[in-house]
Amino acid sequence: MDLFEYQGKQFFARYGIPVSPGEVVSTVDEAVAAAERLGYPVVVKAQVQVGGRGKAGGIKLAGDAEETRTHARNILGMDIKGHTVELLWIEKASDIAEEYYASFTLDRSVKKHLGMLSAKGGVDIEAVAAEDPDAIAKIWVDPVDGLTEEQARAWVEAAKLNPRATEGAVDVLLKLYRAYVEGDADLVEINPLILKPTGEVHALDAKVTLDGNAVFRHPDYEQYDATQVRDERERAAHEKGLQYVGLDGYVGVIANGAGLAMSTVDIVNQVGGKPANFLDIGGGASADVMAGALEVINNDPNVRSILINIFGGITKGEEVANGIVTALGRVQIDVPIVIRLDGTNADLGREILKPHLSDKLQMQPTMLDAAKTAVALAGK
Ligand code: GDP
Ligand code: MN
Repeated sequence: MDLFEYQGKQFFARYGIPVSPGEVVSTVDEAVAAAERLGYPVVVKAQVQVGGRGKAGGIKLAGDAEETRTHARNILGMDIKGHTVELLWIEKASDIAEEYYASFTLDRSVKKHLGMLSAKGGVDIEAVAAEDPDAIAKIWVDPVDGLTEEQARAWVEAAKLNPRATEGAVDVLLKLYRAYVEGDADLVEINPLILKPTGEVHALDAKVTLDGNAVFRHPDYEQYDATQVRDERERAAHEKGLQYVGLDGYVGVIANGAGLAMSTVDIVNQVGGKPANFLDIGGGASADVMAGALEVINNDPNVRSILINIFGGITKGEEVANGIVTALGRVQIDVPIVIRLDGTNADLGREILKPHLSDKLQMQPTMLDAAKTAVALAGK
């Protein structure tokens, strides 16, 4: 779950990371009222779940009510990389001496947390990584050991921040690590982390991605789920409780199990097609779930064929087949469907499907054959 900046800052504040006071608003008048309460100068900040707002004109300093009004009017409704600005964060402006970068994320290849810290902050970190990789100090933290103050201090020294920032940076980084671990985040990023002329170190921006699977541990994360930016298809799938990720191809994919669903997406690519989505219908394959999956995929105007890839484990082949047949009776599908059914009692399942087969509903013995057929049926 991606958070807006203002949500990310509220999240940081819970762990004691210094952030500026501010208010979230959705109209020009509210923006001015918030600025009056906060005191000038303020920063008017577009709230969209995408970076580079500053460059796009979505971050503006305002010294009085008139400037606040002008900036709020210009930024509300603005399109930033395909995201429409509907909310503004009005924040008390900070004086900046230096801008740094700090983040934690998971490095799956070494099964450790990866911390990145750079004295070159405020700019696109990908650009720093490409042009001046030595300017990013990295630390790998074993999740069992955690991050010690000593390690954090050595890390800050390696990043060559201004010595005046050392104490503040160590403090923020330890808190950021705690927020990342205890808050079940996949990513926490502060860019810029600023050194103020007065010597304090302070988070001026917040990019936070929380692990959606950890909501059960943090009931208040439901509020973040409610503000997730989803495309139409993802919203519909989410309402049906399906594990769906929209992609930009044209072969609709339905599989049971996340691993099989990913393999199916891969194999569609491998045989020269483009998957329209990832969709894992879970262990079973009941008519209800299958019908829901077919509805979501059928409503995607880019889909030109559907590949159903089911491997029966605990779920038996005949149950899967009956589920598919019932679902097909309920949902009017306009594009050809290719089924691959294997695993427990696959023979029984295939017998059940046989009388229903046609040009528009085909069955193939292997995953590869099924993918090739689905891609061929999708046409050019
Ligand atoms: P992003 O462009 O989406 O990453 O948005 P940021 O929140 O990082 O803001 C972009 C830039 O605006 C920062 O790097 C700062 O240079 C500037 N900025 C943001 N807030 C303030 C502030 O309170 N005071 C000053 N002087 N500049 C700010
Ligand atoms: Mn930023």
